[in-house]
Amino acid sequence: VKAIRSLTSDALRTRIMRNNRASGNQSTELRLIELMSEARISGWRRHSMLFGRPDFVFPKARVAVFVDGCFWHGCSCKRTPTANSAFWVQKVLTNRSRDRRVSRILRDRGWQVIRIWEHQLKKNPRRVLLRIARSVGTLLEIDRLA
Ligand SMILES: [Zn+2]
Repeated sequence: VKAIRSLTSDALRTRIMRNNRASGNQSTELRLIELMSEARISGWRRHSMLFGRPDFVFPKARVAVFVDGCFWHGCSCKRTPTANSAFWVQKVLTNRSRDRRVSRILRDRGWQVIRIWEHQLKKNPRRVLLRIARSVGTLLEIDRLA
């Protein structure tokens, strides 16, 4: 912690961004793909051009799934770095208000929106899968998920 504090603010900012990107969206998306295929949940697409660029879209069921990185989207499981806290707070607030706006607009257009926190995927993947399955109308054989 002391070493981190002694870095200049820009270096620190870069480092925090890099750390959180490295552990961020790409690996959580891959994890969700893995989980969905184990659970035989199908019908999803990635890289959809749908408004807000959801991480996964189920076109038939009209379900949009976002996997939100805890750090960038302001989950309470992460703390804002103490250095430059005004900068981080602002950044996270901006992300959160965009998230809310995107969800609202998609819902207005008749989509079901599911937002999953990165930590939920790690701590309770089963609940995440149930939520998705329920929304897309897939019957899960729970035993397969044990
Ligand atoms: Zn979290």
